[in-house]
Amino acid sequence: MAVLGAYRCIECNGEATELYRDYRRGVLRISICKSCQKPVDKYIEYDPVIILINAVLCKAQAYRHILFNTKINIHGKLCVFCLLCEAYLRWLQLQDSSQNTDPDDLIRYAKEWDFYRMFGIASLEQTSFFIGIFITLWWMTPETLKRKSDFILLLKALLLSTYGKLLLIPAVIWEHDYTPLCLAFIKVFVLISNSQAIRVTLNLNRILPWFAILFGLIFENGVVCLFQKMGWDV
Ligand SMILES: [Zn+2]
Repeated sequence: MAVLGAYRCIECNGEATELYRDYRRGVLRISICKSCQKPVDKYIEYDPVIILINAVLCKAQAYRHILFNTKINIHGKLCVFCLLCEAYLRWLQLQDSSQNTDPDDLIRYAKEWDFYRMFGIASLEQTSFFIGIFITLWWMTPETLKRKSDFILLLKALLLSTYGKLLLIPAVIWEHDYTPLCLAFIKVFVLISNSQAIRVTLNLNRILPWFAILFGLIFENGVVCLFQKMGWDV
């Protein structure tokens, strides 16, 4: 049975019962949105590469297609992989800063431990950043985060939109003079896609997601400072 709200129109964010209708004998017709009279989801016909390019360009339509009209379920694995990339980057920077080149076993184990430590720190920062965003949005727009499913969808959107961190690995592997600039660009790109993901998921204006991200960054830095004050080497 068709359920209203099972899908979303990618143009106007209105609810829809189906993306296309199957008339049998290979005849399919894309559904038209009742509110805006445009195809509910034109991307169902598109190649995944085109959809990915549109998502990289931060188009709200591509975000709506991925979040509402597909059953994509890679956010957990993607999150772990992004954290590993971040931990690797920090671990490399740590190796560069320490001048000790003694190939002793003890040093090797210490280096391995350093990697896990970096992974822990990256996870802590990511979690505090998300908590900061959730607190702000829950405080500013409580009506958009009423149900548990709203929180889960927002978390999924935030995790998926952090995919830009995968670029950290090529940025460090092909190291050159402009690597610090590349890393800064990646950071900005991840924040822009986070903001677009919040905007699309909760159907907000452009300002509020940036406010939430700003508070998320402040909260993240606050937590790191707190851990440093407690004597932890974060
Ligand atoms: Zn529409």
